[in-house]
This record gives sequence, structure tokens and C-alpha cells, in this order.
Amino acid sequence: MQYLKDEQYYVDFYDLLTIKGCLRTINYWRKVCNDKAKDESLNKEEKEKAASHALNWELFILEGEEYAKKQSSIKRWMDEGRIEQDTYDNTAEPKSIHCSNCGSLMHSTMKDLEHFPNEPLRVLFFFECSSCNGRKGVYDNGEERLPKPHLCSKCKTEASVARTRKGKVITSIITCPSCGFRETEMDDLEENDRDWEKKQREDKELLEKYRNEFCLSDEKGKERLEFLEAMKYANQVYNEEKRKYDDPVYQKSAQLKKLSIAELEKILSNLLEKESYIKFVLEKPEIGKYVIVPFTAQDSDLSRRSTKSVDNLRKLIKETIEETNWRLIGDNVDYRLGYVSGRLKGYEREDDLLEILGKKKKTESPESELDYEKRMKYGSHNLVQLFRVFGEHDGIENVRKRRLEKEPEGFFLNIDDGPYSCGICGTGHYGNEIWWNLDGLRCINCHKNIKDGVIPSIKSRHNNDGEWFDKSQVSYDYGVPPIRRTKLEKEGLLQPINLVNREGMIYFTLYLEKDNQNFLKKYPKKANWRPREVINTGNKEVTL
Ligand SMILES: [Zn+2]
Ligand SMILES: [Zn+2]
Ligand SMILES: [Zn+2]
Repeated sequence: MQYLKDEQYYVDFYDLLTIKGCLRTINYWRKVCNDKAKDESLNKEEKEKAASHALNWELFILEGEEYAKKQSSIKRWMDEGRIEQDTYDNTAEPKSIHCSNCGSLMHSTMKDLEHFPNEPLRVLFFFECSSCNGRKGVYDNGEERLPKPHLCSKCKTEASVARTRKGKVITSIITCPSCGFRETEMDDLEENDRDWEKKQREDKELLEKYRNEFCLSDEKGKERLEFLEAMKYANQVYNEEKRKYDDPVYQKSAQLKKLSIAELEKILSNLLEKESYIKFVLEKPEIGKYVIVPFTAQDSDLSRRSTKSVDNLRKLIKETIEETNWRLIGDNVDYRLGYVSGRLKGYEREDDLLEILGKKKKTESPESELDYEKRMKYGSHNLVQLFRVFGEHDGIENVRKRRLEKEPEGFFLNIDDGPYSCGICGTGHYGNEIWWNLDGLRCINCHKNIKDGVIPSIKSRHNNDGEWFDKSQVSYDYGVPPIRRTKLEKEGLLQPINLVNREGMIYFTLYLEKDNQNFLKKYPKKANWRPREVINTGNKEVTL
């Protein structure tokens, strides 16, 4: 008996499982789509789009997961096959087995492997008696196999079974000694063979038809796994990034000014010169985990004694670099014959910046090493970059939402934020001219127009559900060129609202849906096309 097969057998078997899994997924989504098709309230096209999106995503992951487990599964099966083969081939048959009927010595005719849960494999040997034709099965450990009793299907009493074989058909007649019930079971070996062949044929067809589609090659598989891995990491990055904004130290570290060596030199030499420390120079930096730069200067104020000079210089430097990513190593400044020197240390990485603000570093656990590896591998992956932006965005949003508790109407952002585009007119402004609340970002002009009641507090341009539209939409969405638009405005079919800025100039024109019902009836919206797909992420839009 052949238990260990060649590798291709296992590859085919694995690929078949993958193919069947993928086909099940496709059928599931087809069914969902068809079930929902009966629901009139849903738009058919959109439903199909959503379902196929979900399906493709699921297949994308499933194929990757199947690929990930392929090699190890095949290896495991082959190892198991090897053990089975070895056990089957090399287990010694039990000696001196005597017939239970006549006591003659029996001889073995065939053997078989038997699996028992939580037990080592067993080999079952079949013995036959040449004197009386009696038979029995004996395991390799000498234990006799007890035939499984056949129970009457009516009264569950043990029934007697008489088997006859004619060609390839085995007939079993089961008779119950208790209730007398009799039944006949037929086992057609030829039919079994035919079924088996049919299944083989079907499997072969499935493999030919779908293997390329669902079973990833090594090259594609590795690519897929990397993507999925990056995706997981991206999620982690998103959460970490978002969480940072809950921690005041992170917020402070973000505000530290990151100075280059040249900037540092310029700032310090200007400042020190005013205090009579002349010829300030930075020497060649040591570039390692940190950047360490020795500096020297000369104290031209001869009235200062060494300790005073040193204290003074130390204080000056410390105060100057306090809000930057630089620190004076060991708070140390040396003084020799009017010559002062010391070393400055520059921090680049976020973790290190946190350290200088007094936050303890995460202990180097195996997990953080893993994170380090992942960061090196996936840190610059597009997906990770994108999720970092999302995380940062959502983190900032959370900080603002917390601020909203004290300033429920909203507030202007900081001058360092942005520039952002206004959610209504789309013009760019720095944070100090952007009003923020849960409606989104509003420039100072639009904010004033809302406050003054020129326009209601309308939704943002990219997701306003048709609440309002602007001039460009009159052309693109409703097919009305600018000249005709002006005419329609004069005739009163189009009712514009002109928004005026601080200088008294019209900076934006919009049309409210509720004011323009007649226009909308006459000029229905054209098929909605957009030059680019826009994913809406609240205030910040990322185009793919
Ligand atoms: Zn016998
Ligand atoms: Zn019975
Ligand atoms: Zn605006």
C-alpha cells in the first residue's frame, strides 16, 4: 500500500482546497447579491459594486493566507505520509496466531493502517485459517480486533449479518434475532470506482481551470504577503499615530524645533557674539545613533573669571536650545586660557526626542524589536505612509474634539497648522484663518458669512449630498456653460448666493438646492463623472 505520495500529489491537493475555498467565497457573495436584489430600495448597480468590492478584498486576503500556509502544510502532510509508510512497511507481524475455532496456526493475508485518536498508528494484520477458513484481525501488539456489532435499525439489538459477493457487488443481509427485522444492503464496488473516477476528473478540471487564478506563484505570493503584512503594520501605525495625540509629551515633542547643524551654528554664534564669546565654531560632527558636535569659542571679555565665563555660557546655550532638538552633553563646558569648549548632541528620532522631554523609553522587549524590523521593512511602504497620515489626522481631530468641550461653537486653529483648504470655498489658509468645528474646516470669510446668516451652516463641498453646488458644478454636473449660467441668473431661474470677503469682494458663489428647484428640474444632473476618484477622510482628502 502506498501512503507516501510524490510531492505533486500534495501540491494538487492543497491547490484544490484553495480553489474550493475561493469558489465558496464567490458563491457566498453571489448569493448575498441575489438575495438583496429583491430589495427594491437598494440601487442594483451600487449593490453589485459594493459586493464585488467586498468579494475581491476577501479573495485577495484568502489567496494570500492560503499561500502563506502552503509550504508548511505540504511538508506536514509529507512527513505524516513518511511516518505512515514507514510504519506500514516495517512493523513486524504478530507471531503464533491461532484460530479461535479449531486452534490451528493461522497465516496472514494482508495488512492495513489504523488511526486511533490520540494514539500511535497501528497496523492491523488479517489472518486466515487454512483448516477451517476462519478469519480474524490482529493488531501489531497482538491485540485482537473485535468486530463491530451491527445493530438492528429498528430495535438496536445486535443483528446477524450474512454477506455474499457476486462479481463487484457485495450484498449484506441483516437479520435481527429479537424483532425479526430484515434488511438488505448492497455495496457496488464498480459504482464506487466510477464515483471515484468522476471525482478525480472533476478535481482535475478545477485545477486546470482555476489554479492560475487563485493559487499564487512564489513571486506573486511573496508580494501579496508583504502587502498584507504592510497593511497590518499600517493599521498599527495608524493607531499609534492617533494615540500620540492623547499624550501631552508627544504634542510637546512635535513642537520642538528641529535645527540642522548649520542653523544651530548660526543661531548660537550670533547670540554668543553679543555676549563677547567670539569665533564660535562647530567642529566635525560624530555621526552615530545621535549626532554629536564639539564646539569651541573664545571669551573676549577678559574681566570674566573662568567659572563665571563657564556658568554664563552654559546658561546661554541651555536657554537657547531648550525648545530645539539639541542638548549640551553633560551640561559641560570647559575653560582653558580663555578658550571655551563643549559638545552638543542632536536628536532626530521621535523616540529620542521624547526622551529629552523626560519620557521614559519603552523597554526593549522582543515585540519592540519586531516593530523595529517592521519599521525598517515597511516604514516607507505607500500604504503605511497613507495610514500614518490618517492616524495623524484622526489624532489631531481628537485633540480638537476635546477642545470643543470648552469651546462648543468651534475655534480658529494655530498659525502653524495647515495650510488647509476651506470646506466650502476651497481656498487655502493657514490655521489662524481656519475655523474648526464638527462641520469641518471653514475659512475666516466663510465662517463670517455663516455667522452673519448670509448662508446657513452648510455641509462641506465633497460630501454635501446635493445640499448646494458651485459654479463649476453648474457647468460639469448640469451641462450649463458660463454664458448661459449668467443668463439664467438674470432670468431668476438660478438663484446664486455671492459670498463677500473682508475686502468687500465676491470670492465665491454658491447655489442652494432649496432655492433652485426649478433649475434642477429643467437641468437634471448628468451622469456623475469625476476626473479622479476621491476617498473622503473627513477634512483631508486623499486622491488615489
Ligand atoms: Zn480454523
Ligand atoms: Zn430488531
Ligand atoms: Zn471659505
